[in-house]
Amino acid sequence: MSTEFDIAIIGGGNAGLTLAAQLAAQDNPPSTVVIEPQTVQQRDCSWGLWALDQQTEQLAHSTKGRWRRWQLVDETRRVVHSSNQYSYLSLSSADYLLDRAAQLREPVSLIEDSVKALHPQQSETIIETEQGRYSAKTVYDSRPPEIGYSTLRQHFLGWEITTKEPIKDPDMATLMDFRVDQSRGLHFIYALPFSDHHLLIESTLISGRMETQDWYRDAIKGWLRDNNIEIGEFLCEEMGVIPMDTIETDPDIAASPISSESSESLGPQPLIATIGAASGAVRRSSGYAFQHIQQQISQLAAGIAQGNMAVPTPISSRLTAMDSIFNGVLLSRPDLAVSLYMDMAKALNGDEFARFMLGQATTGDWLRVIAAMPKLPFLKETVKQSAKQVSKQLLGQHKSA
Ligand SMILES: Cc1cc2nc3c(=O)[nH]c(=O)nc-3n(C[C@H](O)[C@H](O)[C@H](O)COP(=O)(O)OP(=O)(O)OC[C@H]3O[C@@H](n4cnc5c(N)ncnc54)[C@H](O)[C@@H]3O)c2cc1C
Repeated sequence: MSTEFDIAIIGGGNAGLTLAAQLAAQDNPPSTVVIEPQTVQQRDCSWGLWALDQQTEQLAHSTKGRWRRWQLVDETRRVVHSSNQYSYLSLSSADYLLDRAAQLREPVSLIEDSVKALHPQQSETIIETEQGRYSAKTVYDSRPPEIGYSTLRQHFLGWEITTKEPIKDPDMATLMDFRVDQSRGLHFIYALPFSDHHLLIESTLISGRMETQDWYRDAIKGWLRDNNIEIGEFLCEEMGVIPMDTIETDPDIAASPISSESSESLGPQPLIATIGAASGAVRRSSGYAFQHIQQQISQLAAGIAQGNMAVPTPISSRLTAMDSIFNGVLLSRPDLAVSLYMDMAKALNGDEFARFMLGQATTGDWLRVIAAMPKLPFLKETVKQSAKQVSKQLLGQHKSA
């Protein structure tokens, strides 16, 4: 096998394998290698997302569950959404990635190996791995960034179970049930019935600190008890941490995403850029990333076909700024956290809510959400973040002077 490639993709996750599959489908694919140390089964987890009917059909092979109705619940309110346009889907990441891997064909391949270091040369990058060395003109790096100091993270522990008795309303996804211990941060139960006897249930905490695993397990047990659900069979346990703050990238790796202008000015230098979650594709306010990655990768693959290797920004800076303000309010006013989500959900119908979560809200959707939010905390946070931005810019000017 050759060790010289046009493109090396580090990491065969959502971003890496989706990009490889799209390149393999092109008329004259660039020679491409995906370097991934783990099997898809080792990394299997559930990915939740909203999708329109066409995409829902395309993802049918990896869909574990699909709901037209979803709810958010707190001590006093229940907001139920239904949608004719959007479905909430839960995918098996392993099935999705296996399908993408099956679409690879020469000259696009996947190898099992782990990248240790990148050594940029004049017109290529040497990729040092556990098992050897490769070179590529362009490197797209999707390795997850270190979760460094982060004020806010979404951490969860989930169980997949069968139930002894039929689940009451298996057509309803529970996205957030806040009727659980709120003393450690914003805490909710996420419950997806895959059938009337098969349930995924997660205890999710948004805070700066992880709790012991038993803390999340106790929350799940308590919720099952409160809802009179008895476990038939315990199928598996899943844990995860999603940073909801600024992504800290490896300083050895070129800043990403690289804009079209800067990639043109790079001349013959090799391009190393991050893609997917590593490039900031995770929504700061919700932890959802799937659709942003899909969009980024489709645009990137189309660009590559035209000779443009630059990575598009996965989430607009405006949306990131809005999410930062939302997170700032969550941090400064934890007492408001539950009502912020409930009020936001109540202000929107199912289609509007799905658009909002997808980062595709219309001006009307935004106005409805803004009208439902408490004005003073958001105003204070906006002023605080604007001041931070200005002092950052001034510091930058001072340094470059
Ligand atoms: C547990 C969890 C659950 C999530 N759930 C959702 C969800 O429900 N919905 C949603 O929209 N988003 C979710 N997210 C956000 C998530 O980050 C994205 O949806 C998606 O998986 C990110 O894709 P990616 O390709 O950028 O990164 P990943 O899928 O993480 O892929 C990165 C790959 O890099 C590989 N890698 C690591 N080190 C090396 C190395 N040294 N050499 C080579 N390869 C390496 C890893 O093995 C991995 O396969 C979740 C995240 C986590 C952590």
